[in-house]
Amino acid sequence: MKIQSIVIGMALIGGLTSLGHAQTTADSTRSGLAKPAEKKYQAKAPKTQPFGTAAFGPSKQTTVRWLGFAGFLVNSRGTTLMVDPVLQGFDMPVMIDMPITPKAVPHLDAVLITHADNDHFSVSTNQDLKRVTKAYHSTIYVDSLMQNLGLPAFGHNIGDIFKVGPVQVTLTPADHAYQNAYPGMSKRRFKNEDACGFWIQTPDGNIWAPGDSRLTPGHLTMPTPDAIFFDFSDSEWHFTFEGAVKIANAYPNTPLLLCHWGSVDAPDFTPFNGDPKELAKRVVNPARIHVLAPGEPFILKPLKKNK
Ligand SMILES: [Zn+2]
Repeated sequence: MKIQSIVIGMALIGGLTSLGHAQTTADSTRSGLAKPAEKKYQAKAPKTQPFGTAAFGPSKQTTVRWLGFAGFLVNSRGTTLMVDPVLQGFDMPVMIDMPITPKAVPHLDAVLITHADNDHFSVSTNQDLKRVTKAYHSTIYVDSLMQNLGLPAFGHNIGDIFKVGPVQVTLTPADHAYQNAYPGMSKRRFKNEDACGFWIQTPDGNIWAPGDSRLTPGHLTMPTPDAIFFDFSDSEWHFTFEGAVKIANAYPNTPLLLCHWGSVDAPDFTPFNGDPKELAKRVVNPARIHVLAPGEPFILKPLKKNK
């Protein structure tokens, strides 16, 4: 957990440096709290719509709920899984109410984790979800971290396929080994395959959760997804804003369920400060941008693809 915090801290410094801001994260946060009138604008998520046990119950459809951060709950005809849930214990100021607490979650068939950063792999959240979660799935590296926590975890290679009830999940490639670019951040040499995305095939359509990644050609040549968990952070270690627009426009009819924005109070930190209004100006067919509130249901429907 400590290493994760250092990683995020270093990433913050790296991100801020790349923006030309000669300040540390701590300075930024403190000045924001002390002088709210001078606080920079940051887009915030709509008011949270809390949910309870019913969201995990039997269903004849596939419902997706954004959890804040990069997290989602998927209930596909009663099979439930969360992707990258961060429901408590984050180490920076959070500006949303969480739609549910880990202890209120009644059961999960699986938790899927894209990579080890603590805005995706929340030790505190997952420890409290352990009692109701049948299986955790991630990369080989993150599996090793989850094994250390005693979680019922499974590690996979990129391209591997596994099943969660009627849902089939494939690990998709990511390029997010930023740690290697900051000497001293980690003794470990990170590999691209330490991070992943997920292609989630449900009876009601296919969801693509690309995870955190730099843009690669492969991101633009996927089969057309029926929904994307859409990160549009303008960070050099993410798609960048321009890259996110390219992805959006490569799949011009796919609903974009926005994430990785509006949750963490960090107006100067590009991985967290995306603004949906900017996206709407650039994306083909902007009506498919879904600025979901944390907890708000989205019903997955298959796109008509042969036109
Ligand atoms: Zn992230």
